[in-house]
Amino acid sequence: MEFFPGLLCRGLVNAHCHVELSYLLNAIEPEGGYANFAAAMAAKRDNYTPEQRIEAMKRADRSMWEEGIDAVGDIVNDNTSFPVKEYSPIEYHSFAEVFGLRQSNIARCREMLHAPHTSLTPHSTYSIQEQDMRSVCAEPSPSPLSIHFMESPDEALLYIGKGRLYEWYASVGFSCDFLHYPSPAHRIAANVPKNRPLMLVHNCYVTQQDIDIIMEHRTAPTYWVLCPRSNKYISGIEPQSVELLRKNRLQICVGTDSLASNTSLSIIEELKAFQGVPLDELLLWATTNGAEALGIKHQGWIHISGIDHENLRLTPQSKAHRIL
Ligand SMILES: [Zn+2]
Repeated sequence: MEFFPGLLCRGLVNAHCHVELSYLLNAIEPEGGYANFAAAMAAKRDNYTPEQRIEAMKRADRSMWEEGIDAVGDIVNDNTSFPVKEYSPIEYHSFAEVFGLRQSNIARCREMLHAPHTSLTPHSTYSIQEQDMRSVCAEPSPSPLSIHFMESPDEALLYIGKGRLYEWYASVGFSCDFLHYPSPAHRIAANVPKNRPLMLVHNCYVTQQDIDIIMEHRTAPTYWVLCPRSNKYISGIEPQSVELLRKNRLQICVGTDSLASNTSLSIIEELKAFQGVPLDELLLWATTNGAEALGIKHQGWIHISGIDHENLRLTPQSKAHRIL
């Protein structure tokens, strides 16, 4: 018999990932801001072979499984990740994200619905016109919607005719048919059926007013997914809304975003970014809340080592390993 100091815990859930972007590990300079990040993505995307992409996804999938991640809420833009998922022990739910202000990709997204555990979702409140938003949200599906929300201050500024997003759209001639809503939160409340589960992802600049507007309309669960290391990587910002979400007693989940904007797909590393949040609460976010959001029924067991037992905190040395 062996004795392992540490914590025994249910399997982890990565509530927001883009595993298909795993080939972009270390490809983009950190903290250059969102516009630079998007430009670098566009410039580097085509530099990789299909084999390199598949290998990178397999590595990412394996490391998530070994760390004890049982389930992943994964955004997809194409079919490349489905073969990897088919042979993975991880339970994936794939969200085919619909976007396009000039030309929408909704037809291509619908073709992806043949893959198992795949549903449609709007990408965000700033990248999709009203008709697509309406039809995707009203899709008869028990799956949650997973919408990028308030990742940058420019999302709300767009709705009042200001900010970098607004200027960029004006300069390239994109017109938006949804700016009659006072804010992104109003658009969510107007379009997402109140009885459909909803995951809002990032929430960096979410306000009390946004929370009130959204929660007033909800009867189904609403999950607030935080990806602090991605926010730091892309924009150099620390999670600001954590205390606001906690104060409102909202259901928080944790995601890594992709390896284009993170150094690993480790949920334990992600949890280390929440300084000052009690460990039992962090583990609730990363296990029960994530599993409930994705409708996962089978969770394994993990062992977390390197814990500060006196104060019940993660330390820089904390690591998780799968037991079962
Ligand atoms: Zn994302």
